[in-house]
Amino acid sequence: MIFREVVCETGGVNDHSPYTSAVSAGRPHEPGDPVNTAIELSTTYRASGDRRYARSGTPNWETFERVLGELEGGEAVAFSSGLAAMSAVLHLAPGGGTVAASDRLYVGTNQLLGDLEASSRLRVRRFSKPDDPVLAEADLVIVEDPTNPGLERIDVADVAAAAPGIVVADNTIATPFGSRPLLLGADVVVHSATKFIGGHSDLLMGVVVAADTDITNRIRTHRLLHGAVPGALEAFLATRGVRTLGVRMDRAVANARELATRLDGHPKVARAHWPGVGALVALQLNGDVVETDAFIDRLELWTHATSLGGVESTIERRWRWADEGPHVPVGLVRMSVGIEDVEDLWADLVDALG
Ligand SMILES: *Cc1c(COP(=O)(O)O)cnc(C)c1O
Repeated sequence: MIFREVVCETGGVNDHSPYTSAVSAGRPHEPGDPVNTAIELSTTYRASGDRRYARSGTPNWETFERVLGELEGGEAVAFSSGLAAMSAVLHLAPGGGTVAASDRLYVGTNQLLGDLEASSRLRVRRFSKPDDPVLAEADLVIVEDPTNPGLERIDVADVAAAAPGIVVADNTIATPFGSRPLLLGADVVVHSATKFIGGHSDLLMGVVVAADTDITNRIRTHRLLHGAVPGALEAFLATRGVRTLGVRMDRAVANARELATRLDGHPKVARAHWPGVGALVALQLNGDVVETDAFIDRLELWTHATSLGGVESTIERRWRWADEGPHVPVGLVRMSVGIEDVEDLWADLVDALG
């Protein structure tokens, strides 16, 4: 049963800077309206109006979608998590179709691809460079720039130019303040809004953005029928989070760049890599895994925890996850740099390095 979709204004690029779009897009604008879309928890609506049932749309998702649509330059569809958004996107490939996946994808995306391959839903082929011939044959291509957790770069424009199929860019790490893949030729952008967009480690959400309305209609239908819808409270909080994304990224990116430069010159550090975009740093110490774990344990200001993109700085050695890929070095430490004072973050690192 398909409910008629609630008609909402589409997103799309205008001539505002992303700093302005993040703050101004999607706000109610009639006289007497609240400045922020009120949290709307009702699941159903009195008959004969535009809205009917909350699985097909709520005011809080739509506000969030307007902001993300304007930031990425397309029309946005919100999901209950980043992986739910990725799952919907993978359903754009036909049954038995071929997905060309970068060999450096987020571990959860790799597991999802493995699951769909095991059930013969998709064929998965891996690539590492934009000149790989598999790009020309694939129905759908998935890429992350920079990659998670190694923070390698891959040129999304080159991948898009080589791939006639649907090109999907996971833009979680760069954020729209670091990269706008739709403007580089990608067809679809996916975010885990759990990370930088939400920004406070207090909600799970995902979003798909595309410029082609055929794609966004299929994604919206998938959400309606498979049901991976976000809650109204999460959408409200994610909207509140994205309002400050520009200033948070400016600060976090500057901190990450500065800390990577200082760490790279430290005698206990083998390599500290900041990829030139985003607020993550990939760190490898000169010591073994035991020494690396002891360093993490000695930190006081940095929180030892997974996930990334919060205002607070977090750190973890990725190999504590059994499913992390074979290309990830056992000693690789991923730092998600927050917005604290960089001197306090540095002092804690220096103390723990010893
Ligand atoms: C966390 C993450 C995801 C998955 O998002 P969830 O919100 O945890 O479902 C996808 N891609 C990247 C790059 C991520 O970091």
